[in-house]
Amino acid sequence: MRHVAVVGSGPAGYYTAEAAQKRFGDAVRIDIIDRLPVPYGLIRFGVAPDHQSIKGVSRRYEQVALSDNVRFVGNLEIGRDVSIAELADCYDAVVLATGAPVDRPLAVPGSDLPGVIGSAAFVGWYNGHPDWAALAPPLGGPGAVIIGNGNVALDVARILAKTPDELAASDICAHALAALEAATITRITILGRRGPHQIAMTPKELGELGTLTRAAPVVDPADLPPPDADAALDPGQRKSVQHLRDFAAAARAGQPIEILFDFFASPVAIEGDGRAERVIVEETRLDDQGRASGTGRRHAVAAGLVVSCIGYQTPPLAGVPYDQGRGRFENEDGRILPGLYCVGWARRGPSGTIGTNRPDGQAVADRIAAEVPGGSGRPGRTGLDRLIAARGLDVVTFRDWQRIEAAEAARARAGAPREKFVSIPELIAAARADDDPRLIPPASPAIGAHLASGAARPPGPVGE
Ligand code: NAP
Repeated sequence: MRHVAVVGSGPAGYYTAEAAQKRFGDAVRIDIIDRLPVPYGLIRFGVAPDHQSIKGVSRRYEQVALSDNVRFVGNLEIGRDVSIAELADCYDAVVLATGAPVDRPLAVPGSDLPGVIGSAAFVGWYNGHPDWAALAPPLGGPGAVIIGNGNVALDVARILAKTPDELAASDICAHALAALEAATITRITILGRRGPHQIAMTPKELGELGTLTRAAPVVDPADLPPPDADAALDPGQRKSVQHLRDFAAAARAGQPIEILFDFFASPVAIEGDGRAERVIVEETRLDDQGRASGTGRRHAVAAGLVVSCIGYQTPPLAGVPYDQGRGRFENEDGRILPGLYCVGWARRGPSGTIGTNRPDGQAVADRIAAEVPGGSGRPGRTGLDRLIAARGLDVVTFRDWQRIEAAEAARARAGAPREKFVSIPELIAAARADDDPRLIPPASPAIGAHLASGAARPPGPVGE
């Protein structure tokens, strides 16, 4: 028997559990631990609320969660409630799948002014992350600036620009929908420090900007390289650049909001009287390697809201070697220390799609097979349960999560899949609500109801 703890229940965590299950069959017990009382990490809190088809992958993770040898332990923070050393004492292998939920800092003067918000916070706000639900971003317009030319910048621009009708079938939280309905932003400027050929936007997501009801993307034709130059791009990037060319050629159809692409524009300061009022931008030029340098020419872009979408980092964890420069755990192909591994964004940094995390899970399962012999005598989940009981921690099981999920579906506005609870107390209350047989799916035999009842040991062989 191998006992494996996976810290983090987003895509990388579940792909790891799935791969370990395939690799070891009945000879493994996997606990997926999350600091929040809900699973799925990025799927719930990062993926845009109007991209429901992407969120559908959580059904696959649910299959993993419901299998006998996998257990979800939510509302348990490693590093606060239980240390990494204690976890390592309990399990044969610990896999950190903690993602990259922290904004890379925007290192310009004025970035601490009210109204300047990182994308983790802004996306967390509209997606109902308990850390960010109370954010109240200033949406009083008319100007907003989004810094960065990646897909997160596109998500933020699209959510700011969509009408309430366009968001109706999404799972955007009621507080964000109401705030956006009252917003008066009419000019969203997306700042790219490099040019159209250097964008990190994928074609499908960029193309969506051209389909919005009340907003039009605007590109200055003078920013586009000669069309022949696109031949050197890979096919996906060529498609993205073609969208920019189409935006540049399109006539405005009277939409009241413009989404303006300001290329070769590097933010150098944010100014305002006690709050963000404008972004000072230095125009750039590119060298033949595609690197940007400042020209000394500056312009100001008026904005009461500045959302910095320049990438994320993994928070450090006491006792785990950390690569400050790259903002992720120090690791060699996913191995941090003997018995301690990392996967996903915590391993590679914040890049790629959700599916990119799958091979990481397979690779770490292979490493555990090669490097971590079973039968070590470590207690696995029984040991964790002892710590939980001794500390009186109120953890959430997968069955509890199913109660939360059913309650969120039951209170959704018409046409929406769910209305999320956005605070830990609300989530815990929903988890502890009496079972309503009409709402609650059948319980998995694997779920440790003993945790909810406070018993120190799991019933039966599941925890052995
Ligand atoms: P990203 O793709 O790495 O893009 C970050 C952007 O920020 C780049 O354009 C970068 O420009 C710019 N940037 C970095 N530092 C900057 C600075 N100091 N000043 C100005 N600009 C700066 O990151 P992301 O948008 O956060 O996305 C993270 C990952 O999630 C990506 O893999 C993305 O594709 C994925 N994602 C996918 C979807 C989807 O598929 N629907 C949605 C959201 C996110 P340079 O190139 O010049 O460094």
